[in-house]
Amino acid sequence: MDPSLNTEIKRLMALGLHLRCAEGGLAETAALTLEINRLKKERRAVICAHVYQTPDITLGIGDLVGDSYKLADGCRKTGADTIVFCGVNFMAETAKILNPSKKVYVPSAKAGCSLSEAINAADVIKLRSAYPGLPVITYINTSAEVKAESDCIVTSANAEKVLRRMYEKHDKVIFIPDRYMGANLAAALGKTPGRDIILWNGACVVHEKFDASLIKIYRKKYPGLAVLAHAECPPELIAEVDFMGGTGDMMRYIENTGAAAYLLVTECGFGELAKLRFPQKNFIAMCRLCPYMKSVTLGSVLALLKDPSPAEVMVPPAIAGRAKKAIEKMFELAA
Ligand code: SF4
Repeated sequence: MDPSLNTEIKRLMALGLHLRCAEGGLAETAALTLEINRLKKERRAVICAHVYQTPDITLGIGDLVGDSYKLADGCRKTGADTIVFCGVNFMAETAKILNPSKKVYVPSAKAGCSLSEAINAADVIKLRSAYPGLPVITYINTSAEVKAESDCIVTSANAEKVLRRMYEKHDKVIFIPDRYMGANLAAALGKTPGRDIILWNGACVVHEKFDASLIKIYRKKYPGLAVLAHAECPPELIAEVDFMGGTGDMMRYIENTGAAAYLLVTECGFGELAKLRFPQKNFIAMCRLCPYMKSVTLGSVLALLKDPSPAEVMVPPAIAGRAKKAIEKMFELAA
């Protein structure tokens, strides 16, 4: 066997990736990660990997790994010429808006997002005229055009903090596009949807479908269970959990607590990563796959690095400039 392939197999084994491979699968994975990491250096590229990607991507080739906030912040600071975004389009657009001189790529033509597709710029303009004077607070899971029509962007990591700051100056705000996250934030802040916060009708196709009634069953079966759910889940489910937040907050909760077991109500990539990071802890599966996130594979990353031209992310400068102001407002308020 090629000695460099052998070394790569050992590196992946040390990361625990053999635990999720069928026999012979690790060698195949290692051949891909080896070539991707070689091409990545050659092209002075940095690979951003969202935690919903599979661990062969997050751990095998990712340079920056995290939630939307961590990746957006990391992209601002990278010295690389090229950003390959293993995530979905709105994340790559955000990276491009923050790094207009860099080349940004997404290794899949199918990396959309149901939340991002739930609202467009014309909808925001109509909302503004229906509620004149109200600030538009926009979840990062939206297109560049929607961000450009917004006053401030939030991620699940900082939405509550940013909204608190907004309510210091406003009695009422518009929050788009996730109706569940908006309702969950309203509950956390003691606000009433419709009266204090205007919501849009968007939802995440992954998180809206979790069944709240299963949580009681799991609690009976696993005494001492800690239930963590993403803020995109419906409020009736959030009412049953121990912790609601973004994936970065959920990972910190796992790290800093000693529950008998953890039930992670979110996309499956997060649980896979958590199991590899904390092999001594017990995890119970209650996850769903995001078809958009999972359209990125090691094979598609390799194809992109060999021929990046079809996958470049472009944002028109006039839109990027206005969207950047709303993103920078988030960094200011979340600091
Ligand atoms: S998990 Fe939901 S919010 Fe995240 S990319 Fe997939 S559809 Fe969009």
